[in-house]
Amino acid sequence: MTEILHPTGRDIAHAAALLAAGELVAFGTETVYGLGADARNAQAVAKIYAAKGRPSFNPLICHYARAAAAFEHVVPNAMAEKLAAKFWPGPLTLVLPRAENCPVSLLAGAGLETLAVRVPAHPVALQLLQAFGGPVAAPSANRSGGISPTTAAHVLAGLGGKIAAVIDSGPCDVGLESTVLDLSGPTPTLLRPGGVSVEALEAVIGPVQMGAPITAGHTLASPGMLASHYAPNLPVRLNAATVAEDEALLAFGPPLPGAKFQIQLSEGKNLTEAAAKLFEALHELDAQAPKFGLARIAVMPIPNTGLGRAINDRLGRAAAPRDF
Ligand code: AMP
Ligand code: MG
Repeated sequence: MTEILHPTGRDIAHAAALLAAGELVAFGTETVYGLGADARNAQAVAKIYAAKGRPSFNPLICHYARAAAAFEHVVPNAMAEKLAAKFWPGPLTLVLPRAENCPVSLLAGAGLETLAVRVPAHPVALQLLQAFGGPVAAPSANRSGGISPTTAAHVLAGLGGKIAAVIDSGPCDVGLESTVLDLSGPTPTLLRPGGVSVEALEAVIGPVQMGAPITAGHTLASPGMLASHYAPNLPVRLNAATVAEDEALLAFGPPLPGAKFQIQLSEGKNLTEAAAKLFEALHELDAQAPKFGLARIAVMPIPNTGLGRAINDRLGRAAAPRDF
């Protein structure tokens, strides 16, 4: 059952407690309804992908109550400071390098070294973020491929029964998604047009370049994003039935024998647990490779159902020939 909450102090506190407990809460923003989870909790973030039925992991926007809180988790530059002062709270998302001790789970950023952050303008969203006191990862609150939801009824039609609660704060004003601007490279690049126009951005920071968004199927969006890791350095072999001398094992369920180094995604074959661990595991495998003389990652079979599809998509792209 999905609880329908209202924008009262008591319900907001309850919604914040649900987020803190690792549950999903949908809430209205000035753009569309977002499906929120504690961004620091990889298990909670995995539930977002599961509820949406996304066949791949794509990076999520992290929402904050204040710019100062957002800028503790990323490395802002002068343009980011100017744009935040002018457009936050509001429908502008900034992509910046993750701060060194950024507590946001790698899964929320789909393994990238950058993070998308925003301070929404809707009073109920802000109250929730304030009450929760941490970063909330929130894509639009619809099933994958569905229309972006601008009412609580839309959210329930798609996700009813799959999420803990929705805060009904009436219809969204903008109905457009946030503008996504990448400030992590040398030139500001528009990744998605939205509620703040390019002209308005350019009036503050000068010329903005049009860019290709990061989509499933792309390893790198543009040369400006070369620093972003979408794939591990080690090549990947899927559906492994045995492990060779020079291979690390990425286990799912009781591990195959003989690996010099292994990481378990989920001993009990739980796909949510495996999704939550995936990006940390890939980073760890890359880090350990020199020590153990590893040349490849052998991945045990993972069922292609539910979150397993997104996990296999991610690993499959890591297995595919590299274009860099
Ligand atoms: P949604 O959450 O459904 O509104 O979509 C989020 C948008 O932000 C998508 O277009 C993502 O590709 C984009 N995005 C989020 N994080 C990043 C990032 N680190 N780098 C580039 N694009 C991002
Ligand atoms: Mg969406």
